Amino acid sequence: MTSPPEQIISTEELEAYRPRQAAGFSPSRIVLAKGSNTTATRRHLTENICEAYREAKVIEDFGTPHNRVNLEQSDPLLLSEAGKRTLVLAEHKSAVRHSTEERNSCPNFWHFSPYGLCPYGCAYCYLAGTQGVRFSPTVKIFLNLPEILAEVDRVARQLGEPTAFYLGKLQDGLALDPITGYSRQIIPFFAAHPTARLTMLTKSEDVGNLIDLDHRGHAILSWTVNPTEVIKAFETNTPTLEKRIEAMQPAAEAGYPIRAVVMPIIPISGWERLYQEFLTDLLSRVPLQRITLGSICSYPQAMRLTERKLGRDNPISVQLDQSRMSDGRARFPQALRQDVYQGLLQTIRRQDADVEIGLCLEEPSMFDSLDMGQNMGRCNCVL
Ligand code: SF4
Repeated sequence: MTSPPEQIISTEELEAYRPRQAAGFSPSRIVLAKGSNTTATRRHLTENICEAYREAKVIEDFGTPHNRVNLEQSDPLLLSEAGKRTLVLAEHKSAVRHSTEERNSCPNFWHFSPYGLCPYGCAYCYLAGTQGVRFSPTVKIFLNLPEILAEVDRVARQLGEPTAFYLGKLQDGLALDPITGYSRQIIPFFAAHPTARLTMLTKSEDVGNLIDLDHRGHAILSWTVNPTEVIKAFETNTPTLEKRIEAMQPAAEAGYPIRAVVMPIIPISGWERLYQEFLTDLLSRVPLQRITLGSICSYPQAMRLTERKLGRDNPISVQLDQSRMSDGRARFPQALRQDVYQGLLQTIRRQDADVEIGLCLEEPSMFDSLDMGQNMGRCNCVL
């Protein structure tokens, strides 16, 4: 039988957390949307967060759901910029979901959303084109964490076997953690759970809340990484590669299983040397359990925003095969992807013969051509 939400985590500890501002995030307004004022705990969290961002204008909009907050911009680029300056506090009633990938190699997986989107400004952001974000691309914190974890518990007990729940599909998994301290509830929840396991994906440099927790190996932490040149060109307002590595190292020392996701690999000029040096450095400094490689996989809506940010002759657009593949996403041509993967695989294997290697959102034929058929379905989102 599922425990009531208040027993899943300690609401006293949740309320007692003192928010810190998140690096690179300074919202000019905080919208208190639907569900942000309906329990004492949510009102408490709202007060604490507003206190941490005293310079932001607070707008009460209790009747509006999190995904309908009107930013009063019709231009997609201005809308996106306004969204990154707007923090929405709300509830999310369907925050635990099963993915619905078809016609590519990805296994479907469970994911959950205590946050929506993130404060970062990646020019390739695939979320820009998704249904839930298109109208209102704000940065969201969902205040109903006890209910979200209760639902994870319910699903996990029904499944009855070790199952990964992914935090990082529709958001950055850790970027807002200094504000909420949610990791201090989420990681102990998974540590104590008989079958639910956490996989989390981030670009964050801030692991301050995680290091002293007793995670019992039930939380896998993954960082998205790329060479510095790619980060500088395509990942505005994100932590540097060095800062990400410096976050991975103490997390590894604290015993967390650590993974890396090299995605999207962007073959800019000189990519062979850049990726070789970057991977050699990464693998020599961080003990990785698994590394997942992935290319650009973009929907038209997201690509339009990418081109507004970078211009139409940017290194992604000029190399992209505009004919979308069977899953609706556009990618680089097969031969280029294969060439790039082969180069990266050689470097990884030279440096570490044992690290597991996966490919993200690829076609089964790509696994065959790289002689990686046995690796299919062993990627970042799953155990
Ligand atoms: S970190 Fe992820 S969600 Fe955030 S802007 Fe970059 S790609 Fe988008």
